[in-house]
Amino acid sequence: MKLSIIIPIYNEVESLDGLFEELSNLFADESATEIIFINDGSTDKTLSILEEKIKNYSTWKIINLYRNYGKSVALQAGFDTAKGEIVATMDADLQDNPKEIYRLIDELNKGYDVVTGWKKNRKDPFEKKIASKIFNFFVRIFSGLIIHDSNCGIKVFKREVTQMLTLYGGRHRYIPLLAHQKKFSISEIVVDHRERKFGVSKYGIKRYSDGFFDFLTILFLGKYMDRPLHFFGSLGSISALLGIITEIYILYLKYILFDSFQQHVALIIFGAILIIVGLQLFTFGLMGELIVNKKYKDRNYIKEIIE
Ligand code: UDP
Ligand code: MG
Repeated sequence: MKLSIIIPIYNEVESLDGLFEELSNLFADESATEIIFINDGSTDKTLSILEEKIKNYSTWKIINLYRNYGKSVALQAGFDTAKGEIVATMDADLQDNPKEIYRLIDELNKGYDVVTGWKKNRKDPFEKKIASKIFNFFVRIFSGLIIHDSNCGIKVFKREVTQMLTLYGGRHRYIPLLAHQKKFSISEIVVDHRERKFGVSKYGIKRYSDGFFDFLTILFLGKYMDRPLHFFGSLGSISALLGIITEIYILYLKYILFDSFQQHVALIIFGAILIIVGLQLFTFGLMGELIVNKKYKDRNYIKEIIE
């Protein structure tokens, strides 16, 4: 199998006719291309229509999830199942143009590990375009990864990359960043983007708060994943140290300047809290180290052995 195309689908029933028409025109050679539709807990007729439609194609299949898990998990299920040497993803809502997959693959063959689409001429509501500009600006600033469109639905990957990514929650928005953290090479090309003709966008206002928290997690995991004690330990030490200084200051007030303790109750409590919080953070870091230690017992960090 040369190419696997992964398409997450959640309640896109009206788009399916158009989607199948485009795909069957473009990827007629079934021995070269498998197409995996992930039904992410659709509550409309998506599943039954998909079932009917894939009957005509021997290498096209549906992964049916128990419930709606979100696009990240849907993509992960696809990555886990795909057999192709090259893996492509695209949306099911007809906003992505599947013929771009060929251009993305041409770019991949220049020697990149990931090629992601750039919806330069994006056909989405104004507020979404602005939000996406801000979002991508932050990704660039904090990650050092220079791309314009981190969350484009259409992308192609070398198989190896899809095996190394772990997608859940909202991490599909940061796939290029996740790949970048693993030192895979990434390129971006401008792709055709179309308006959503049917159905509704599945991500409302919540996309912004979710996006923010996922971003923090990813930055944190990228930087401190393998040494949590360095992060929590430093924070904890600072807090505990401030607490100890505060308490010493209180002793100074009491025994050198002969103040009474009663005058400084608030400060005493404050210092004690700083010390306790510091110890807590430290313990947190130690627990993190235990988890990391377990992970490294699995020894999944060897890329290849060259002889
Ligand atoms: N999607 C999914 N599960 C979800 C939400 C969305 O599989 O919980 C699919 C959806 O059917 C579409 C793609 O992910 O194929 C992108 O979703 P959408 O078009 O709503 O996102 P937007 O283009 O608004 O960012
Ligand atoms: Mg869309």
